[in-house]
Amino acid sequence: MDKRKFLPGYPTDLNKSQMIHDLLTSYLANKTQTIYECENCGRIWIQVGQTNQFRSFYPDTKDTNGIFSSKK
Ligand SMILES: [Zn+2]
Repeated sequence: MDKRKFLPGYPTDLNKSQMIHDLLTSYLANKTQTIYECENCGRIWIQVGQTNQFRSFYPDTKDTNGIFSSKK
């Protein structure tokens, strides 16, 4: 792996799996959007790209409440 792509200060004594983990983590951190459900009304909030803004979606029916819960 080409260590020159890393910023100064990045450890040089990591093995390859540690470096791959760091690459994936930084990649996902830049691609992941936050999504959450309001526990009161069931409205879904989705982060707009990597901004601090959110857009909301309101469910047609109440049976979607708790849709992110693993208990369903
Ligand atoms: Zn709400």
